[in-house]
Amino acid sequence: MTLIRAAVCHEPNSDLTIEEIELSSPELDEVRVTVDACAICHSDITYIDGGWAIEYPVVLGHEISGKVAEIGPHTETDLNIGDSVVVSLIRTCGHCLACKRGHDVACTGKLRLHETSPIKTKAGEQITHGLNAAGFAEEIVVHVSQCVPVPEDLPSTFASLLGCGVMTGLGSVFNTAKVGPDDVTVIIGCGGVGLAAIQGANISGAKCVIAVDPLENKRLLALQFGATHAFDPTEDLQKMIQNINDGRLADFAFVTTAAPEAVSMSMKLLAPMGSLVLVGMPEDGIVSEFDPGLIAARNQQILGSKMGTSRPHFDIPSMVKLWTEGKLNLEKMVSNVYELDDINKAIKDMRSGSTIRAVVCPSSTKKDPK
Ligand SMILES: [Zn+2]
Ligand SMILES: [Zn+2]
Repeated sequence: MTLIRAAVCHEPNSDLTIEEIELSSPELDEVRVTVDACAICHSDITYIDGGWAIEYPVVLGHEISGKVAEIGPHTETDLNIGDSVVVSLIRTCGHCLACKRGHDVACTGKLRLHETSPIKTKAGEQITHGLNAAGFAEEIVVHVSQCVPVPEDLPSTFASLLGCGVMTGLGSVFNTAKVGPDDVTVIIGCGGVGLAAIQGANISGAKCVIAVDPLENKRLLALQFGATHAFDPTEDLQKMIQNINDGRLADFAFVTTAAPEAVSMSMKLLAPMGSLVLVGMPEDGIVSEFDPGLIAARNQQILGSKMGTSRPHFDIPSMVKLWTEGKLNLEKMVSNVYELDDINKAIKDMRSGSTIRAVVCPSSTKKDPK
């Protein structure tokens, strides 16, 4: 057991409190990781706002980079103490049907950490291991499958983004949609995931990469990240796309925002044979309406994209390669870096819409135990 500092959420719609909590030692097939950087994702904020059901208190944070500090007993792994790793929420048992099929995001295996949280308050109250990671903390204990080694020279703040936001955006384009060079793509929502999807569509050589966002600063960013066009959603988007594309609508519309109205709007932007890719996750209970006859007649598809249908042990090294080759811009996606004590300011900045990714660096202020 280790005492660590973590940002605890005690109830919905409240500030996180920085407190000392107990982290249990890693067991079989688990590792303890020192958190160098943990970016704030909109999923963390949805939980903080009570938009999805979860048991409180909880420590959130799931877009993580750090160093392996301890490997659980009898664990067979290529990881060594001190290795730099990206940690994602995707946990795989390696044995279930989904794992055998390579569908990492659909693993149904039951592992110890699904049943038992490794964190509790100093008074002994269990704390929920938020999003399988609880990364708003100096250290974490996770399943070994959640850790992917990355090169030492990849800055930790960049690496953290590969754990969720960038992996999800790129994965939605590469894995879920499989965008090709002739395709016309529309990306609705230009936050971290949307900007990563824009980069992915560009890397795939898409003919058009059309960004849609109500905020002007995000539309400007989208153009800087390689969008060919950027529109406000109040514009006549169907007409705009048809004007660009010889009268045709889009092959793919990626909804990266959780705004419910974006889903029904996006369906109208698709050409026959087109696919709607649902990447952003609205709050519990949000329902959209579709005309099934029209979808059948136009031979269209609706694709869910959980974490970009990613397989982290394959996709994270591929993303590192794209970064090394200068094709993937991670630097510009890190808007600001914060100490753990300033996490509420970081969350506020993420809510404001002016920040692509706010990254918290818990180990920068870590105090060595006396
Ligand atoms: Zn996330
Ligand atoms: Zn599995």
